[in-house]
This record gives sequence, structure tokens and C-alpha cells, in this order.
Amino acid sequence: MPTVLESWSPAARRVLPAMRAWRMAFHQEPELSLHEERTREKVVAALRELGIPYRTLQGSNGVVGLIGADRPGPVVALRADMDALPVTEQTGLAFESKYPGRMHACGHDVHMASLLGAASILSRSPHPLPGPVRLLFQPAEEEGGQGGAGPMIARGCLEDPRVDFVVGQHVEPAVPLGSVGWKTGPFMAAADKFRLVVHGHGGHASTPHQGPDAVVVASEIVVALQTLVSRIRDPLDPVVVSVGSIHGGTRDNILPTEVVLEGTVRTLNPTTRAAMEAALRRRVRSVAASVGATVRLQYVHGYPPLINEPEATRTVARALVQELGRDHVVEVEHPVMGAEDFSRFLERVPGTFLRLGVGVPGRPASLHSATFAPDERALVVGAATLAAAAEGLQGTGR
Ligand SMILES: [Zn+2]
Ligand SMILES: [Zn+2]
Repeated sequence: MPTVLESWSPAARRVLPAMRAWRMAFHQEPELSLHEERTREKVVAALRELGIPYRTLQGSNGVVGLIGADRPGPVVALRADMDALPVTEQTGLAFESKYPGRMHACGHDVHMASLLGAASILSRSPHPLPGPVRLLFQPAEEEGGQGGAGPMIARGCLEDPRVDFVVGQHVEPAVPLGSVGWKTGPFMAAADKFRLVVHGHGGHASTPHQGPDAVVVASEIVVALQTLVSRIRDPLDPVVVSVGSIHGGTRDNILPTEVVLEGTVRTLNPTTRAAMEAALRRRVRSVAASVGATVRLQYVHGYPPLINEPEATRTVARALVQELGRDHVVEVEHPVMGAEDFSRFLERVPGTFLRLGVGVPGRPASLHSATFAPDERALVVGAATLAAAAEGLQGTGR
């Protein structure tokens, strides 16, 4: 184990017992997206215990805290997500989920406990920061459609006082425990989805010539969508188009009147995102029209691309080097095509999203799996990271 975990950030190590208790409480009672009521109560209780003013938001399970409301400096918001996943836990941890079919398998329990730890460090520091620190506890990150960030923003979580910078983090098995990863620019993908109903003639499979065959048209569309990626986009600008489900028909000798396709489109910047939607709509229509079939297409926008603002990201990376040491701050080379609701905050406010290392050699781990059990020492790094990021962005990096 990296001994450096034992040597740095005395402030973060001091709050480890409290973070451990918070994390266990969150972990034992995981709640799915849009149902985070007990989790909200626990966050509120912890903020009360820390003496940090907070407010809850009507129609959302989000909680917004504020440290140093009357300080004149820049306002930095720190965010943690709150929801769990429909997974039955198999970690064997002493504080395993009490509920089958619900688990903090994405580490949001670690995110919340780390944010509370950072809040504890920042609110009790003998050297208060020059500006306020806003705490954002955000529900429904895993919900994937509307999400929880949008409703919180609509209810003013970035106002009064107006937030200047926003920072979030996510546990990451590909980054070693004890380290933090950062990257400027596009970091995570926009995740849009589509549902396509292909209408054909239907009838006896021995007489396919009587009208458009929905099965054949759907198959042509699946193939045509793949060439959208390989032939329309710049090969250096990653795009994913995947058809994840295809349903139609009942037996071998009946042609169905409709076939339903569902898929996802992942892109890393707003221009490509809009271009892919337009190209997909055109391609689907033209394939169907070429054989006289009709299609109904629903195209639904999910989370936008997550783009780390370069200047704020570099400022945070410098603050992290001072806090954790150069060997524990790694620049992440490639973006990932997963999506994250934090992108909605970054659409409005400059800031950065970091990767909190939980990787341990010889112990492969994967987010969303029933055996995901990040080492609790990541809490120390998580709290130190958020506190250092706030300090750095307020210009007080040591
Ligand atoms: Zn997740
Ligand atoms: Zn997550």
C-alpha cells in the first residue's frame, strides 16, 4: 500500500473516522435515483453536526450547503452525487447494503463522505478561505435522462452567491489508490439515445415482394448507422453509435409489420453531437424511403459532453501537486465515452471533474459491479482533493 497515504494531509486524516462513519451509513442504505430521501436526511444531519448552513430544494432530493457566505472572494462549488444502483451487493463488507437489489456500486457513498470531509476541513480551518464554498449534494446522477443536476440548477443552486467555479470527482479503478487524475477539455461523452420504429407491409414470408419488409429495412439501417461513424466523422473525433436492442416478428414464416430498434449515440463535443443527430435522421429517412418503408424516430438528448475548462483544470492540478505530491497527480490521456450529469454544471460554470484513484494492483475492480468495494483510504485523498481544489481556485494554494 502506498505509505504516502499515511503521511500526507493531516487535516484529511483527522476527519477519516467521521468520513468512515458517514460512508458506512450511506453504503448500508443505498437509494435509487430520485428516491434519495434517507440519504438526504443523512447529509442534512451531517451538515448540522458540522454547523454548516444548508438548504434543501423543493421537488429534488438535492442539498446545498454554504461555508463562509459573507466572504468576498470567488465562490467555489464542490459537488458529490448521491444515488445508488439496482445491483445486489456481493462484497462481503461488514457494512454491506441492507437491501437486495440496491447498492452503492458506483462509489457515490465515497463521493458524499469525501465532500463532507472536505466541508469539515474547510469550515474548521484556522486559515479560512477568502471566498465562500458551496456544497452540492446532487441526486439522480444514474438516472441518465433528465438527471439531478438540471433540476438543482433550475432551483438556483449556482446562484446567491453566484458560483464562479465548480469541481467534482469520481472514483476510478484505472487510477491507483492514493492518486488523482485530471484532464483538460473533453473528458466524457454526451449520451443521446434513439428509438426507431420501422413500418413494413407484413404478411406471409413467402410473398416478400408485396411491400417493404421491416426486417430487411431495419437491418439495412443498423449497417448504415455504422458507416455514419466511419465515413462522416473525423477519425480523431471519437463517436459511438450502438444499436443495443432490436425487436420484431413472432415466427419464421410471418413478416412483421414493424421492427423496433433502440440505440445510443456518444459524442465528445456539441458540434459533433448536433451533426451526428442530423446525419442519423437523414440516413434513416433515406434508407427507408429507398424501399418505400416508413419510420418513426424518437431522438432523446441525454447528458451533454463533459468538458473541463482548461485554465481552472490546470489551477486545480497545480494545487493537487502541492497537496498530494507530483507522483500522485496524473494527467489522464484519453477521454471516456461514458456520460456524467456533472457536465450540466460545467455547461454553466468553468471548472473541472477529477478521477479519484481507487485502483489496487492485483485487485481488479469495475464500477457498477456487485463486488465493487473501493478502499476507504480513498476518502482521505477525496477530501484533501476537494479542499485543495477550492483553495487553489480561490488563489490561496500553498
Ligand atoms: Zn455510475
Ligand atoms: Zn457514478
